[in-house]
Amino acid sequence: ALTAGIVGLPNVGKSTLFNAITQAGAEAANYPFATIDPNVGMVEVPDWRLNRITQLIQPKKTVPTTFEFTDIAGIVKGASKGEGLGNKFLANIREVDAIVHVVRAFDDENVMRENNREDAFVDPMADIETINLELILADLESVNKRYARVEKQARTTKDKDAVAEFAILQKIKPVLEEGKSARTIEFTKDELPIVKRLFLLTTKPVLYVANVSEDEVADAENIEYVKQIRAFAETENADVVVISARVEEEIAELDSDEEKQEFLEAIGLEESGLDVLIKEAYHLLGLGTYFTAGEKEVRAWTFKKGMKAPECAGIIHTDFERGFIRAETISFDDLDKYGSHNAAKEAGRVRLEGKEYVVQDGDIMEFRFNV
Ligand code: GDP
Repeated sequence: ALTAGIVGLPNVGKSTLFNAITQAGAEAANYPFATIDPNVGMVEVPDWRLNRITQLIQPKKTVPTTFEFTDIAGIVKGASKGEGLGNKFLANIREVDAIVHVVRAFDDENVMRENNREDAFVDPMADIETINLELILADLESVNKRYARVEKQARTTKDKDAVAEFAILQKIKPVLEEGKSARTIEFTKDELPIVKRLFLLTTKPVLYVANVSEDEVADAENIEYVKQIRAFAETENADVVVISARVEEEIAELDSDEEKQEFLEAIGLEESGLDVLIKEAYHLLGLGTYFTAGEKEVRAWTFKKGMKAPECAGIIHTDFERGFIRAETISFDDLDKYGSHNAAKEAGRVRLEGKEYVVQDGDIMEFRFNV
């Protein structure tokens, strides 16, 4: 499964957030084959459409789809110099599909910035820079390692792939040298697969999480720190989610949805920051949801946007993909509008889709297959 790695300097609220994630965690009974790794927190993806389908179909059971966050251990500073734990930090980031970068945006004189540093004022820009710089330096090292070799190959053999890669390295190198992430570069469609093969850290999609004080979370857009983080994120075409990790920890401890709703209303929030974060991370990774809807079970499934029907069927079971015949498909909007499968069918809104069909977010599918 795709995963988003949580990174940040010490004392910014990562553990608090990760704790909220594991507390809120997905109901294990529904996902018996999930891997158990203490650094991975699995959450259910909130989706109002799943609630609506459940209301219409009244199944015995409803199962949301899940999303995984990985807590990235290790120290940050000096990581690119290859010092012990720092190395591990970079290696762990290399393995995740997206980065959730937690930035401290709360004042609290009881919480030191970075292990008792004397100048313990809050400075989100400096914090972001510290982490990004380590990633940029690590990328620069990877790029430099390839640069000379690929240049030679491109010049002497005129090999098409080498020429294309060299052009890209020439684009990336000066940007990194300027202290900017490679994601600030706009690559063409042809370049993207080559960029991907470089396995750089600063081309991974990133989401900045501004961790604000519980007292200010309801009016967070007026916080100076948040404005700074937003302005910076814009330069990288990255998104920002504002949360108060402490609030999320408290919400995660509540049992029922009603209690959660009451708590949120009391502090002036419409939606929990963690729910927003889950949805944004899902979006960042280019994921979509399709549903299966039977009387026994209504269930949400995660797919990568662009996947065709057989591949999506394979997410449920490999047999479904191998023996795929067609998929009876209805859009969520149509089911919502007509109120039942039969009514939608009478209105001609149930489609039979074949092997080439590109599954859309919100599709409700029933796969036909040979065994
Ligand atoms: P980590 O080192 O990044 O994992 O940071 P922690 O999650 O351990 O948080 C460091 C300190 O900041 C702890 O004392 C937390 O209770 C505190 N903290 C985290 N989030 C918030 C928040 O939203 N508001 C306030 N006031 N304190 C927070």
